[in-house]
Amino acid sequence: MRLVLLGPPGAGKGTQAAILSEKLGVPHISTGDLFRANIGEGTPLGLEAKSYIDAGKLVPTDVTARMVESRLAEADAREGFLLDGFPRTVEQAELLAGMLEKSGHELDGVVQFKVAEDVVVERMLARGRADDNEETIRTRLGVYRDETAPLIDHYADVIIPIEAEGSVEEINARTMAALEK
Ligand code: AMP
Repeated sequence: MRLVLLGPPGAGKGTQAAILSEKLGVPHISTGDLFRANIGEGTPLGLEAKSYIDAGKLVPTDVTARMVESRLAEADAREGFLLDGFPRTVEQAELLAGMLEKSGHELDGVVQFKVAEDVVVERMLARGRADDNEETIRTRLGVYRDETAPLIDHYADVIIPIEAEGSVEEINARTMAALEK
């Protein structure tokens, strides 16, 4: 199954992706995690990405898309994947469509995690990641509204909306039920 997970920062995409990955038997591919791993290892990609991430801004699309394309080419992603954090713009969505077309595939769905803004702010502040301070959170929510939310319309015919407030288990159960349809 080839799925994109969409939703504002702090919507719980990463938490849900980890569970779904296990249940569906496809890898969880998080661009944020890939960037953070590169930063941790001090790679050139990590050095390039760090200033954007620290500021809550998007890493340039060419860098991000290249990283995603090489990750999707790995053997474990051949039969499917859960993309978490990519695409984040309509331009990235078009690049993803191009990557999939090359291998004769398409997305099975785009799972949209719906959470109120005050809830995501609370979750992010509780999480305490390096880029989870109030100013960066505000910037990231602005980026989400302006650049990422348009993907909801872009993917209108494959979108799977999930009410994503509640316990981790509840949200997972709703998602599994929606995917079975
Ligand atoms: P996340 O872990 O998904 O919240 O991502 C953390 C940060 O990584 C974001 O605030 C961006 O700076 C960067 N990032 C992750 N995915 C992308 C993407 N698809 N395009 C550009 N920047 C990204």
